Amino acid sequence: MQTNIVIIGGGGAGMCAALEANARGLSCVLLEADDKLGGSTALSSGVYYAAGTAIQRANGITTDTPDAMYEYIMTLNQWALRPEIIRLLCDRAADGLDFLIAKGVSFPDDHLVGGGRNRVARGHSCSGEGGSIAAVLADRVRETDVVVRLNTRVDGLIVENDRVVGARAADNEFRGDAVIVTTGGFGNNKEMRARLYPSVAQHGDKTWAVHEPAPYILGDGILMAERIGAAITGHDTGLPLPTAGFKHNVEGVLPPWIMLVNVEGRRFMAETSPFSVSGYLINAQTGSKSYAIFDETTLKEVSDDLDYLDPLKQRMSVPSWHQKSIREEVARGVVKQADTIEELARQAGIKPAALAEQVRRYNADFDQGRDAQFNKNSGHHAIRVPPFYAVEVRASMIGLTAAGLDIDNRARVLDADGRVIPGLYAGGETLGCVIGNRYSAGGISIANAVVFGRRAGECASEDVLEHGARALCVPASA
Ligand SMILES: Cc1cc2nc3c(=O)[nH]c(=O)nc-3n(C[C@H](O)[C@H](O)[C@H](O)COP(=O)(O)OP(=O)(O)OC[C@H]3O[C@@H](n4cnc5c(N)ncnc54)[C@H](O)[C@@H]3O)c2cc1C
Repeated sequence: MQTNIVIIGGGGAGMCAALEANARGLSCVLLEADDKLGGSTALSSGVYYAAGTAIQRANGITTDTPDAMYEYIMTLNQWALRPEIIRLLCDRAADGLDFLIAKGVSFPDDHLVGGGRNRVARGHSCSGEGGSIAAVLADRVRETDVVVRLNTRVDGLIVENDRVVGARAADNEFRGDAVIVTTGGFGNNKEMRARLYPSVAQHGDKTWAVHEPAPYILGDGILMAERIGAAITGHDTGLPLPTAGFKHNVEGVLPPWIMLVNVEGRRFMAETSPFSVSGYLINAQTGSKSYAIFDETTLKEVSDDLDYLDPLKQRMSVPSWHQKSIREEVARGVVKQADTIEELARQAGIKPAALAEQVRRYNADFDQGRDAQFNKNSGHHAIRVPPFYAVEVRASMIGLTAAGLDIDNRARVLDADGRVIPGLYAGGETLGCVIGNRYSAGGISIANAVVFGRRAGECASEDVLEHGARALCVPASA
């Protein structure tokens, strides 16, 4: 098959790329390994991060800007990200949101949420979660003459005369003037996790990815580009989410009513910390683990209040932490139970004297109505009534992977020497140059998929339209 643009992977980024190429009058084939479009975009909570939006203004946030978003992301990542990439993300995020709205995704004004460590609300939550983003984009794609091939798992790129000219899926060849890789991350690929995300892979059998229901999130696109010389960047980055590992339930935050300590028996963060920092801090503790401590009163009277999971009352998460499941885990021996704090510490492997002192201090702060150590602002409950409970918490749930391909600001894939690989473009979670070593806030990944998926579709189309194949051979600096 011969076409202008070959797109590999039909999630959010791939569908956005296809719509941009189609809008420019180019022929396009969208190859999807699964039996449906959507990928992990369809599984997501549907939160989109952007600054300077009409929805923010409708909520009285009139002074937020892409510049402020840029400063926040760059500062959180200690300027370890490339400005040309993050500038583009921030400058185009609001336009990407408008694009989704124009296509038919509903982002109600009252679904604006905070996130990350910044104070301004930039998380735009859609109706119907990520499933609605995927469904709307798929409907729009089907209304065009984009050719969609489902059940088509690409296994290699076709390179001729140093230029990528197509993709291969078993015996089928799909040839094009440009090829866009939008195969998402590699959360479900154990070998890639060990190589590219070791700080989470270290948890062994406890490591799992929230991508599980999307079977082809295996890093195929990253591997096939790597085989032809693409650079891999963003080593050991992604979103490590804290979990007690009861079940494979997707939960971004810990319950506020626990006290979290390390093996030394010391607290090390506010238990209400956002996932921009919580998993990273847990991984930084001795043994890369921590323990949630609580008492019988909290278990009985507080643990069934699940509002902390769900600020918009959408019941987006499946809860692990509630009385029934915790008591089941006590019976299985996963949650430790004891009549004294010292005995609890011994069972869990925490320093007993230090844990006792930490509990004393936590309770004294509770009595004074403050958390002098970490300024936790909700969910502070005393630990006084036996039996006491402890459960290990690890950041072993992969929220997304962020190691992957490197691109320039025209979404052209770069090789290890920083040169453009002619004919090859990429966008979305398959990239390793967008997220950085701290996940800025909920919504940044869908923004990545939309902004860089569109950018790849736009630039690949422009290059084909304006210059034909010759444009695909210019160096990265051009
Ligand atoms: C449970 C969950 C909740 C999330 N919540 C949010 C959120 O609220 N906000 C946010 O910003 N991010 C969230 N994320 C992350 C975000 O959804 C993803 O990072 C983003 O949607 C990825 O988009 P993508 O198009 O790059 O990849 P995907 O949407 O994963 O699409 C990749 C596609 O490529 C296909 N593919 C893979 N290999 C091949 C191959 N060899 N040949 C052909 N096709 C192939 C896959 O089947 C898939 O359809 C969440 C993720 C999950 C799983």
